[in-house]
Amino acid sequence: MASEKEAAFAATPSDAPTVFDKIIKKEIPSTVVYEDDKVLAFRDINPQAPVHILIVPKVKDGLTGLSKAEERHFEILGRLLYTAKLIAKQERLDDGFRIVINDGPYGCQSVYHIHVHLLGGRQMNWPPG
Ligand code: 5GP
Repeated sequence: MASEKEAAFAATPSDAPTVFDKIIKKEIPSTVVYEDDKVLAFRDINPQAPVHILIVPKVKDGLTGLSKAEERHFEILGRLLYTAKLIAKQERLDDGFRIVINDGPYGCQSVYHIHVHLLGGRQMNWPPG
């Protein structure tokens, strides 16, 4: 499997459908940990921590990444973060956790459908790589 960095540089930033659309439509399987009418959260296929969950809006609405955010996205951006907090509690990450939003090639973004990474279950390091 390509490294995260290789995957990020191979990815083409675009508004085209991504693998997350198929996951949202349940056309490909994932381990869903949370779902409501606006948001889906599922376990990352290549976990970087004991708990590694991706939280995505069901409708992308042009939000391929955080750098594309507009005022109309205020509500969904807040909802993604609030959902991360709910799932952290559900996963019993009581000693802390990390939220990551990768953006663009330098941010190591490989899927152009905005998503929040929730990582936990181990001690994180700083600075990140
Ligand atoms: P990014 O690098 O864009 O911030 O994060 C994309 C994430 O999606 C990566 O951590 C990668 O492991 C995950 N991912 C890619 N394809 C799939 C998939 O088919 N299923 C799941 N569950 N995760 C995926």
